[in-house]
Amino acid sequence: MASRICLLLLVVFLAGAFAGDVIEVNKSQREFDYFALSLQWPGTYCRGTRHCCSKNACCRGSDAPTQFTIHGLWPDYNDGSWPSCCYRSDFKEKEISTLMDGLEKYWPSLSCGSPSSCNGGKGSFWGHEWEKHGTCSSPVFHDEYNYFLTTLNIYLKYNVTDVLYQAGYAASNSEKYPLGGIVTAIQNAFHITPEVVCKKGAIDEIRICFYKDFKPRDCVGSKELTSRKSCPQYVSLPEYTPLDGEAMVLKMPTEREAL
Ligand code: 5GP
Ligand code: 5GP
Repeated sequence: MASRICLLLLVVFLAGAFAGDVIEVNKSQREFDYFALSLQWPGTYCRGTRHCCSKNACCRGSDAPTQFTIHGLWPDYNDGSWPSCCYRSDFKEKEISTLMDGLEKYWPSLSCGSPSSCNGGKGSFWGHEWEKHGTCSSPVFHDEYNYFLTTLNIYLKYNVTDVLYQAGYAASNSEKYPLGGIVTAIQNAFHITPEVVCKKGAIDEIRICFYKDFKPRDCVGSKELTSRKSCPQYVSLPEYTPLDGEAMVLKMPTEREAL
């Protein structure tokens, strides 16, 4: 009798597990050490836009973003490595539908590409960030809603664009700014050293890091600054001139994209 009850309980448990979200915890990925909030500079990223599509915020004409936007909130290890795709949790946009206005504004995709999801499919930029990084943010986050909401909140609290602007570093297609001055402006404002990533002499990303309770801390990669890993001593913070003419015409989605 006892064994029949055990069998019944096992069947009920398995049925529940497979009916809802499939959670395959990857036990080989240990708990992360800290968060990096990775911010992208549209002026640099959008320069790579050759064709437009409706999901690409670089294609919003005069409404294209002019501030750093969110790339992702990434759990990292202190040794410079990071976990990814920690368990299977397929992205569901409806779980974050109430955050859509903020996400479209501050965490837009700056690309027409569809990133791959952890299980090999194609999805949205948000889906990619949730599945690749968000699923590794346990025990701080266990669900999409809190991951996206908290990321928006810390982004708004630590306004890197404003800090740089107040220090005299405004978007410009003619100026070059000292990398050291940009880093010092952020150090003075937040009392931490960020990580800066450049592409062809222009600021591409700035990462600011946090303990698990969201108190700011240095990023591990910030030490590379002194060796100027990817940035020259003087960097640009380009303005983005939206595409015009033919390129601005929205690309018709292919049959596959429209599905
Ligand atoms: P890239 O090779 O362009 O620097 O980075 C490619 C991707 O790797 C990023 O978009 C991000 O998903 C991941 N990545 C790069 N650097 C880091 C990092 O320092 N921490 C984490 N968690 N992911 C990173
Ligand atoms: P990661 O470098 O984070 O591993 O991959 C980013 C993926 O998302 C790439 O496939 C890229 O084409 C796509 N993507 C879509 N929108 C954006 C965006 O705004 N920024 C970046 N960095 N990648 C984006």
